[in-house]
Order: sequence, then C-alpha cells, then structure tokens
Amino acid sequence: MTDYLIKATAYEGSVRAYAIVSTETVKEAQRRHDSWATASAALGRTITITAIMGAMLKGDDTITAKVEGGGPIGAIVTDADAKGHVRGYVTNPQVDLPLNDKGKLDVAGAVGTEGTLSIVKDVGLKDNFTGQVPIVSGEISEDFTYYYANSEQIPSAVGAGVVVNPDHSILASGGFIVQVMPGADEETITQIEDQLQSFPAISSLVHEGKTPEEIVGKLFADEQVNVLESLPVSFQCKCSKDRVAQAIVGMGAEEIDKMIIEDNGAEATCHFCNERYTFSKDELEKLKESIQK
Ligand code: ZN
Repeated sequence: MTDYLIKATAYEGSVRAYAIVSTETVKEAQRRHDSWATASAALGRTITITAIMGAMLKGDDTITAKVEGGGPIGAIVTDADAKGHVRGYVTNPQVDLPLNDKGKLDVAGAVGTEGTLSIVKDVGLKDNFTGQVPIVSGEISEDFTYYYANSEQIPSAVGAGVVVNPDHSILASGGFIVQVMPGADEETITQIEDQLQSFPAISSLVHEGKTPEEIVGKLFADEQVNVLESLPVSFQCKCSKDRVAQAIVGMGAEEIDKMIIEDNGAEATCHFCNERYTFSKDELEKLKESIQK
C-alpha cells in the first residue's frame, strides 16, 4: 500500500495535526542504503518527520534537515518537498547497537547527543530560512519538538517510530506532529498534553495497522477532527544520469581527459539514494566534445 499523510484540525481549528504511515518509504531507504537496525531507525524517524515538514510547505518549496549528534552513524541528511517526495541518507548506515535499558533500539546511542539539528527551508526567496538547535536527546522526535519550540516558536509535539525486523528490513514506520495555534485555550492545551502523556508508541500503532486517520483520531480522543488534506508519500530522489553528466561537464575538459586516460571511465554514486551512475570512455568523450563545441 502507498504511504500517505493527512493534515487535520481539531478543537475548532486551534490545533493542527499531521499523521503519516511511512513504512514503504522507510523500507525503500533501508533497502537502498543497506542500513542496519539502529541506523535505520534513526534515518527512518528523520525521514518520517521531514516528510511531514515538507507537507507544510507550498509549491516548489523544499526543506532539508541535518542531524549531527557526534554518534557512530555520523550525520543524517534528509530532504522533502510539498508534493510528498522525501529522501535521505546517513553517513554510516551499517550501525547496529545493543538495545538500550528500556529494551528499545538505541537511537540516541547511534545519533549521539553532542551536536546540532539544522533545518533549511528553500521557499524560493533570495535567502533560505535556516534554524539550528542543539541536540537535546538524540532520539530524534524530542529534538524536532525542541526545534519547533525554540526556533519556530510553535508549541508542538513530534513523534516518530520505526519497527525493524531481525533481518534489518522495516516492519512498520510512522509519525505525527501536533501543533497548537495561537489563541488555543488552556483547557485544550491541558487535554492534549494529557492525551500525549498516555499515547502509545506510534510505531506499535502503525504495526497494528492503524491508518493516519485513526492515529489522529486517537490523538484527539473524542474531539471532532476535520481532515483537510491527504497526500501520498514516497522515497524519491532528484538525481539522474543527465544531472551527473552535467556535473562532469562542469568539471572541464582537462578533468574529463584524466577520467578517460587514468580511470578508463567514471563512476558516481548519489549520496541520497545510493544509485550508481557509470560513464564509459565513449560517453566521456562525447561529454568532452559537448564542451568544445
Ligand atoms: Zn539520488
């Protein structure tokens, strides 16, 4: 089934919520990067949240998130657009740590807790919007919650979870973001806080087969929920052989000659999706000719 997210409001519009089932998207990321359990959970949570943040944008806007916590997986880099496309990678995907003392995947141990979470939003203006906060937990969801409170001043609750099979494949993945709009009354805020306190792990809800609609319904208990929008989500990269060819052309004829003579061709791998592109000597000759024309 195709992943999707929904955007909804409750409490007469004073609270906004997004929920996503991202199992197939994170499966694709895991398959492409051959990531191991703890790294997959860290990357999967970040991809899940970034997909929701992308859905908050408009038109051709994009968002990039970078988590650098100083842990063994290195950096997590993800980006998403407003059309449901998300992609991401982690510097060292083959990291699997023993479970933490709660019996859960030790995401904080893999991510690290000394560093920063940076967000860049490209909204088509001359200057991008950027925000950066220190890593406060390394468990990802808490770090994005902190980001919203401190960098965007929007009181938010962010949750994301991934269930990994013993063979490292992905069993379930999902997430949510709840945001309180200015003007929400105290009683509403208290009710939501209470709900979130007792809210089950999002990954178990997805594992049980709950849909984004059911997740939002559960978040707001008996409240009237208005679903405003539903958006299909998938792992999708912007790279192509053409783009790599343009990059090679940009290196100049001399560099291309080196590739032809010294390397007998060229090979490039996309960080984001791990797709490998190869160029034969003949193809490189043609690229070189295109410069000289
Ligand atoms: Zn790619």
